[in-house]
Amino acid sequence: GTRAGIVVTGTEVLTGRVPDRNGPWLAEQLRLLGVDVGHVVVVGDRPEDLRAALSFLTSTGASLVITSGGLGPTADDLTAEVVGAYQGRPSAVDAELEQRIAAVVERLMARRGWRTDPSATAAGVRKQARVPDGATVLGPVGTAPGLVVPPADGRDGPTVLVLPGPPSELQGMWPDAVAAAPVRAALTGATELRQETVRLWGTLEAQLAVTLRELDAELSGLEITTCLREGELEIVTRFAPAAQGAYDRLAAALAAEYAGTIFSTGPTLDELVGRAFADQGRTVATAESCTGGLLAARLTERPGSSAWVRGGVVAYANTAKEQLLDVPAALLAEHGAVSAEVAVALAEGARARFGTDVGVGITGIAGPGGGSPEKPVGTVHLCVATADGREARALRLPGARSAVRERSVTMAMHLLRR
Ligand code: ATP
Ligand code: MG
Repeated sequence: GTRAGIVVTGTEVLTGRVPDRNGPWLAEQLRLLGVDVGHVVVVGDRPEDLRAALSFLTSTGASLVITSGGLGPTADDLTAEVVGAYQGRPSAVDAELEQRIAAVVERLMARRGWRTDPSATAAGVRKQARVPDGATVLGPVGTAPGLVVPPADGRDGPTVLVLPGPPSELQGMWPDAVAAAPVRAALTGATELRQETVRLWGTLEAQLAVTLRELDAELSGLEITTCLREGELEIVTRFAPAAQGAYDRLAAALAAEYAGTIFSTGPTLDELVGRAFADQGRTVATAESCTGGLLAARLTERPGSSAWVRGGVVAYANTAKEQLLDVPAALLAEHGAVSAEVAVALAEGARARFGTDVGVGITGIAGPGGGSPEKPVGTVHLCVATADGREARALRLPGARSAVRERSVTMAMHLLRR
């Protein structure tokens, strides 16, 4: 198959100040094109590190290398120059491109009401207009043009596609980039790669490993990765069309063995919850204590959720539970705020106050303080109330504060998807 490599540049990404959004996005786009991505390499704004990454990816047999970032007007933006030199193509100013970039810069400055003295920005514009000899120019979408830089005539090695760092600019340039003739040439031989996802809730990864080992002989041609996230196990399988039969055998074996815990063979939990409410035309409201609104945030993250989410209350203190959700003071005194009884009262309070079909109550001890022998940190009570009845869960969740809060929300989402 056809291989590609990715170099993400930028000291801000290398040091973790900005989480990388380009590497994963590009890897997914390449997968959709049937291209195998062997490596995503992150380097800072140092030319020698970028050069080393390019030679490493060349050594892996990649026919296309994509870089992101380092195309700006400042001195630390060196990607175009380094890539040009690596490919044996010296850079020179492209006068026509220089004028186009100057016009874009002028428009940007004017729109922001900044001083537009062209002489102040000329050096930066001139730098951004430097193009390796024989390269194809893409865009610009922002001010930085993309570049397609094949190896100089007579040389071997990958074609390098140089894209800007800001994710919106990189993504905006992608259609033109893959349509460019030298990129298409570098990707010939790419074959369709299928990807299927199975999601389980309540199965241990160790158990799944046993199943996969037992099936081992039947799984050739499948690249299976399992990922554990907030108690949810995700199995992603990639395969060439020729291995469809092997995948069907895997899917059947999983369906037989994990009938009770497979909750999806495609959509995410959040998509399933959204669909369930949209299809049934029901509405929901939340009353959260220990999760502080995380469930409401997760529900409303979905576009279109206004059709079924009415609202939510963060009732952290007992007085808030009493005043905003009508939880009886006597109930709080008798059972404590973290109790099954109060979770039910919160759920019913949300349902009554917001007039929804469904109410959710969450109360628990996220830690690190506040635990006791009877109610240790990680004790969480959840309730989903409807006109037909209530579904409740008492959990003992492991992990730190953020893990307890996120797992509680995920559990609530699982109760809501049915
Ligand atoms: P520009 O002309 O916009 O400066 P550029 O190619 O020089 O383009 P960079 O200077 O590398 O881009 O990055 C600009 C900003 O874009 C970064 O400060 C960062 O906020 C964002 N960015 C860059 N690379 C990434 C990345 N891999 N993931 C997420 N954001 C990124
Ligand atoms: Mg930069």
